[in-house]
Amino acid sequence: MKITGDQQLIKKMNKTLVLDTIRQRQPLSRADIAATLGLNKATVSSLVSELIESQLVTEIGPGESSGGRKPTLLLFNRGAGYAIGIDIRVNDLFALLVDLEGNVIRERTVPLEDSSPDHAIDQIRKMIHWLSKKAPESPYGIVGIGIGVPGLVDEKSRIVSAPNLGWNNVAVQNLLASEFGENIHIDNEANAGAIGEKLYGAGRDAANLIYISIGVGIGSGMIVGGELYRGISNFSGEVGHMTVSENGPLCRCGNRGCWETLASEKALLDRAAQRWKDSSAASDEEGLDRLLNLARAGDPDALSLLEETGKHLGVGLANLVNILNPELIVIGNRLSMAGDLLQEPMLHTLESRSLSYHMKKTQVAFAELGIRSTALGAASMPITSFLADPDVTSQKTQP
Ligand SMILES: [Zn+2]
Repeated sequence: MKITGDQQLIKKMNKTLVLDTIRQRQPLSRADIAATLGLNKATVSSLVSELIESQLVTEIGPGESSGGRKPTLLLFNRGAGYAIGIDIRVNDLFALLVDLEGNVIRERTVPLEDSSPDHAIDQIRKMIHWLSKKAPESPYGIVGIGIGVPGLVDEKSRIVSAPNLGWNNVAVQNLLASEFGENIHIDNEANAGAIGEKLYGAGRDAANLIYISIGVGIGSGMIVGGELYRGISNFSGEVGHMTVSENGPLCRCGNRGCWETLASEKALLDRAAQRWKDSSAASDEEGLDRLLNLARAGDPDALSLLEETGKHLGVGLANLVNILNPELIVIGNRLSMAGDLLQEPMLHTLESRSLSYHMKKTQVAFAELGIRSTALGAASMPITSFLADPDVTSQKTQP
């Protein structure tokens, strides 16, 4: 019988479905998969054999029998390959090596003494080589690389603008592809963080969530119906530039009273510097740690600075809740470290300012993955591409 293009496509789709089912519901038997997907047992057996052959699935000992012979159970082979996730931050690069289920194998931070694209890309290359050497032996090696960037990334993966790095129109993907292959994903850091928390963190059970990344600025990644909402040009989510005070402080974007001029880490540290008449409180990299230590030791100035920031956060969150009526808000990036101190004033302001029907079912959480949300979300992107096509041998990235 001649196999037509359509039949090949259906077979490939079924194979992806079988693999996804094993990943999500493991351990399970061939009969379980057939029942779950409504496919016949012979089709499932043949697809499972191919997945075992390609080392993406392994068999383990027999499971419970409902009478008769005990079935062999199947597991996803999370060590069939590895991926690298990189978070380009303003002062350093944070990178990690994960298996295909997002378990961290190694991680590393290197300072960016100089934030020029040339220097940063050189450091990224070195980091990829270093982490690749730490990957255990596996059939597919490094399957791909994901990079989160604090800026606008267009639909062609070009970094259009990253103001805090001073980058414009940098094609990181093109610069790395010749050396590391095509499975390289570049995305905004808050989008990557949203995906990280959705897959592995606080958002695992939420189909509609907003991840708010609060560091030097404020950005967001919005997940709608389980998928990232990207907007027409891939630029959605710039909630930090939502006006919350018409005549407020001047923002780096040129507008006045943007949310991030009041509620970001930078705004908090600037106010600390003013309060203590000590400019190092704002410029020092350790500024936030110092402020949090003081607050936790009961310093009234530090506590009132954090309370003020919590209230400013609540004002912006109330706007987002009224517009989007989300299931879950996850506060991530640097200010998630201050969750215990921000929570009460933030929630109080949010609840008093949002419309009650909109807020009723909305949960607010701090990032479970802490400062790893972006790097883990970035690493998941090449893994998703790799697993979407289980006939994968041709896409192997050679570091
Ligand atoms: Zn602004």
